[in-house]
Amino acid sequence: MAAHQERKLAEERKHQNMQNDTKTSQGQWGRAWEVDWFSLASILFLLMFAPLIVYYFIMSCDQYQCSLTDPLLDLLTGKKHLSDIWNRTPMLTYRAAAIYSLWVTFQVFLYVSIPDFCHKFLPGYVGGVQEGAVTPAGVVNKYEINGLQAWIITHVLWFAHASCFHFFSPTIIFDNWIPFLWCANILGYAVSTFAMIKGYFFPTNAKDCKITGNFFYDYMMGIEFNPRIGKWFDFKLFFNGRPGIVAWTLINLSFAAKQQELYGEVTNSMILVNVLQGIYVLDFFWNEAWYLKTMDICHDHFGWYLGWGDCVWLPYLYTLQGLYLVYHPVQLRTDYALGILMCGLLGYYIFRMTNHQKDLFRRTNGNCRIWGKKPEYIECSYTSVDGTKYYSKLMTSGFWGWARHFNYTGDLMGSLAYCLACGFEHVLPYFYVIYMTILLTHRCIRDEHRCSSKYGKDWRCYTAVVPYRLLPGVF
Ligand code: NDP
Repeated sequence: MAAHQERKLAEERKHQNMQNDTKTSQGQWGRAWEVDWFSLASILFLLMFAPLIVYYFIMSCDQYQCSLTDPLLDLLTGKKHLSDIWNRTPMLTYRAAAIYSLWVTFQVFLYVSIPDFCHKFLPGYVGGVQEGAVTPAGVVNKYEINGLQAWIITHVLWFAHASCFHFFSPTIIFDNWIPFLWCANILGYAVSTFAMIKGYFFPTNAKDCKITGNFFYDYMMGIEFNPRIGKWFDFKLFFNGRPGIVAWTLINLSFAAKQQELYGEVTNSMILVNVLQGIYVLDFFWNEAWYLKTMDICHDHFGWYLGWGDCVWLPYLYTLQGLYLVYHPVQLRTDYALGILMCGLLGYYIFRMTNHQKDLFRRTNGNCRIWGKKPEYIECSYTSVDGTKYYSKLMTSGFWGWARHFNYTGDLMGSLAYCLACGFEHVLPYFYVIYMTILLTHRCIRDEHRCSSKYGKDWRCYTAVVPYRLLPGVF
């Protein structure tokens, strides 16, 4: 209903402004049309080293008890050669390939074949067919939102097969962790390469494509905005959410099962990681319709960054805490565990409430109450590829009056909590919060650059009213 109203409003505004004669260059906002040397260097670095970084982390756990320095020291002192490490690395197996293929096929099946039924009985849940945001070419895509249902079905089947019928062991994911890494890489590269070829030869919407002519940049950042196969199989929504995020909670459960098998108990730190990350994953699926309005879907094109990142980077590096705890079971003091729980829940609350405030504000076009008051905002406008002028609003009250990206601040607090649960013996589990800090700071800058070119002087007015990005008074 809300989406319908929003669409109606957008159409009315579009009509009102049809005569607007402002001609804009194609792609006034969205990813770059030209590649500067710094972006190119960063992209080449990531293309070359990101797969190695993932391998290094996972191998360190497998062969060096999660020490990040010991493999380097062994190599530098000549105690080990690269070939020694490689020869001890588990290779791709038919069994792993079969399980992984089955997993992805099953997630595709759940995504395209079962229309959402959760919204019919879960009050407040928005599922079924929903509309995304207006693309730079002025297109509004429809999406089948059924991620929560896919998550529930997958987990019910997991518990039934792993715990009741003992069809497979719940440690199956841990036991095949490195063979699955090869499968995930094959899928990540295959889907990114396919997306590039598709973008060149048979794009879903040619007007929303961007080709810089630089092969590496186009491969990394993607050509097509919303590649699709058929009417419903949307690459961005599928790969962002499933198979990686559905798998996240299963991976953690498998790590907990491994702890139980190895030590006869599951530590409170492992339970904390499972619970806090479980809340984050469930939140993602509960709010999948809202996710259509976030940067990944609204602004990023689909290339290696999203394709490989969703298949490999996310499931392997976001789950490092659980993996670490299999090798180093940490039993936390109760007061310390409670402190971490509080930090995680507070971070989650800030993250969710900030996102909710913006969503409510945008859905109601500012006709709502934020912290019991009418929201304050700045009127702004932007122009799409076809020259149509649109109007929008930037909220300056609630959490959005504290900082321009307070949702990221909450996210970072949650990330810190997962890492703290692992104690202080090794740096490896802290990779997540370090990475998220870099990612979200970079995202702030990327988003602000985009908003600035989209809204022009209106954006400058907004930043004058809300001067800080993440932490009021600091940054
Ligand atoms: P936001 O949800 O903050 O969306 C940014 C967009 O919101 C802007 O581009 C602009 O879009 C609009 N906007 C900005 N300021 C205002 C305002 N004051 N009032 C109204 N609208 C505004 O960012 P993301 O999409 O990056 O992130 C969404 C969530 O996902 C965040 O909570 C983040 O922490 C999380 N996230 C998690 C990641 C992970 O790996 N765990 C990775 C990335 C994000 P418009 O053009 O519509 O004006």
